[in-house]
Amino acid sequence: MKENEKQDSWKPIPTHKDTAVEAIIKALTGFGRKEAINERICVFCAKPVTLDSFKDELSLKEYHIGGMCQECQDNIFEGGSE
Ligand SMILES: [Zn+2]
Repeated sequence: MKENEKQDSWKPIPTHKDTAVEAIIKALTGFGRKEAINERICVFCAKPVTLDSFKDELSLKEYHIGGMCQECQDNIFEGGSE
């Protein structure tokens, strides 16, 4: 399979989240998490997300939950200490 076909055939399905959570994300980012995931863009930086950009299954799974690209996930989860 060619890279383009692989990307085109990737149809991420957003996991269900509480509508309150959805509303917060929408307020923060200006667009909905589900829309972003369906459009394959990052909810945080709004960059297009490609299937190959995720380094592992966990990161890919996290995208379906939080809608964040690999870069934003790295920033948030590895920045870590408060
Ligand atoms: Zn991002």
